[in-house]
Amino acid sequence: MFFSPLYLIMVAPALLLGIWAQMKVTSAFNHFSRVPVSSGLTGAQAAARMLQGKGFQIVQSEDAVPHASNIIAIVETRGFLSDHYDPSTRTLRLSPSVYEGNSLASVGVACHEAGHALQHAQNYAPLNLRSLMVPIASFGAPLAIPLIVIGAIFAIPILIPLGILLFTTVVIFQLITLPVEFDASRRAKRTLAEMGMIQSGEEAAGVASVLNAAAWTYVAAAVSSIMTLLYYLMVFSGNRRGN
Ligand SMILES: [Zn+2]
Repeated sequence: MFFSPLYLIMVAPALLLGIWAQMKVTSAFNHFSRVPVSSGLTGAQAAARMLQGKGFQIVQSEDAVPHASNIIAIVETRGFLSDHYDPSTRTLRLSPSVYEGNSLASVGVACHEAGHALQHAQNYAPLNLRSLMVPIASFGAPLAIPLIVIGAIFAIPILIPLGILLFTTVVIFQLITLPVEFDASRRAKRTLAEMGMIQSGEEAAGVASVLNAAAWTYVAAAVSSIMTLLYYLMVFSGNRRGN
């Protein structure tokens, strides 16, 4: 089932796209993390300015964030490209090279995460939808393919549509992720330019190439899930007809 020519034709290109996107994001980040930003701001400072510009108060500890206020925490976390916004504690967690670095990559990634904080504060609908889908998709993701495989091997027909249904929730989750990610990057690029934190021209292009490379990883993930889903649908609807 996984080594058929149909699987290779449908799913393998998307998996290769994913590998390519992952390499591209790493190389763009590595390259532009060595290009200093002329404003001299660190990622943490740029994100703080972006949020302060929208009326938020910034603290450096997530313990200091009360619920339902205009306070957002920006803290340093471990790892490489581990940057994220945590809506449950309203905290931006930035990796060391983003938090402390004053490069085009650092300010781009930091302001992208600040973009998620603004989406959250402004009740941006795709983000809310995505948050609703998190428990459903994280329940479905590890079960979907094992159910399909067990259903196929042991000829338990009910497991296959069940697995396909769970896999569909993963596809929906990844599709909703796309507008959320594109919008966060759009907010970052716009605010960095508008507030004069980067210069137009080369600096803006550098930030864009880091953020666009990151966007491709989400596109690749969505495409490979869609192709996998289509593959299962074709294989198992074909089987039914054959029987
Ligand atoms: Zn993001």
